[in-house]
Amino acid sequence: MKAAKIALIGGDGIGPEVVREGKLLLELLREERNLPIELWELDLGAERYLRDGTTFPPEVRVAIQRECAAVLLGALGDPRVPGMEHARDIIFGMRQGYDLFANVRPCRALSDRLVPLKGRAARDVDFVVFRENTEGIYVGMGGQFKRGTPDEVAINEDVNTRKGVERIIRAAFEYARAHGHDTVHMADKSNAMRHAHELWLRVFDQVSREYAPGIKGKHVYVDALCLYLIQDPSQFRVIVTNNLFGDIVTDLGAALQGGLGMAASANVHGSERGRVAMFEPVHGSAPDIAGKGVANPFACLLTVGLLLAHLGYPEEERIIEAAVARAIDGQQCTRDVGGALGTQAAAAWVREEIRRTFRALRLGHGRERLAPRCAPLSDSERCWSPRRWRPPRPRRPRKNRSPSPSPPR
Ligand code: ATP
Repeated sequence: MKAAKIALIGGDGIGPEVVREGKLLLELLREERNLPIELWELDLGAERYLRDGTTFPPEVRVAIQRECAAVLLGALGDPRVPGMEHARDIIFGMRQGYDLFANVRPCRALSDRLVPLKGRAARDVDFVVFRENTEGIYVGMGGQFKRGTPDEVAINEDVNTRKGVERIIRAAFEYARAHGHDTVHMADKSNAMRHAHELWLRVFDQVSREYAPGIKGKHVYVDALCLYLIQDPSQFRVIVTNNLFGDIVTDLGAALQGGLGMAASANVHGSERGRVAMFEPVHGSAPDIAGKGVANPFACLLTVGLLLAHLGYPEEERIIEAAVARAIDGQQCTRDVGGALGTQAAAAWVREEIRRTFRALRLGHGRERLAPRCAPLSDSERCWSPRRWRPPRPRRPRKNRSPSPSPPR
């Protein structure tokens, strides 16, 4: 079997520190499970940009597209490059260059003690946000006029295309269908952004009808969504929204799951097999803690889990997540999540725990080590499988079909 090539880009700040741990984890899994994967380390980021002006060379962009199954990216952003030139070229070069229109961010608490809400437990925080990744206000259209004068004007355009809106909404519904969820929430601000978000509302309504009655489409204003996520996050399973709101709402989601050090994400093109996908922790480069050895590596390890599930190894993802959950429960973790370990020690503990799981599996009694204790879910629901998303053929709503049962909680 041809090995799947994975490009590794540490990037800036804490990025290289956590990607180093991601690489060690991939090497461990390659060794223990004979995974046919090949790792390709790339020297890209602020250091390289400051050294020789390189951001994201076209030949690298093409080589990744042609040869790689996935990219693992740490983080980009460095105070020495205030204009973010390198970050823009690399991030947008991948998100837009490879048309990775779905930024999928699972918000799942792995332990009760990480949930900051009074009276809530880990089982209450388990939803996935589908953030549109190629349009919206992040396209960089706009400009400044009379800059630096009392009359200056600054404009950023919010770009929403029918195609872009429809495909991310469909991806969310496809995901809900594949994972047995009966509701998809769409968050916008159509009461204020009457042109752009009226399009979202209309398309959402249309797509919802195709999936009814099995899956219900529910509209929510984004400000209300923030309120409801704090009041009762357990009512959400799948949320779809635009680029800006997705960015903001998933930081709130990260807080519900224990902080930015615990939040993983995938950037995928929903409908084509064989297209390269990009995986990155939700956190940024965190310059305030860079180089101190205290960054939480778990977001990156969980991101490796998403990557492996995407490549067709969902059991490996479950093993990683369960080991991270046990690290949290046993306080074998960094300070931001209540432990006292440094980056390398916390990641090493998880690797050792994974080795213990493999030993137990070899002896035939390790199955119980696969599912995190906090929220036992069925295999089909746990399985992360973006490959299953395909644009559905237009279908007529079927009559007399009973709604899907609620997912196990
Ligand atoms: P970006 O705009 O690139 O998303 P940001 O400025 O919003 O970045 P981060 O760089 O993610 O934010 O960091 C926000 C704060 O969260 C940091 O100051 C840091 O204290 C904390 N943080 C982020 N990631 C981690 C991590 N992996 N481990 C521990 N703390 C983290």
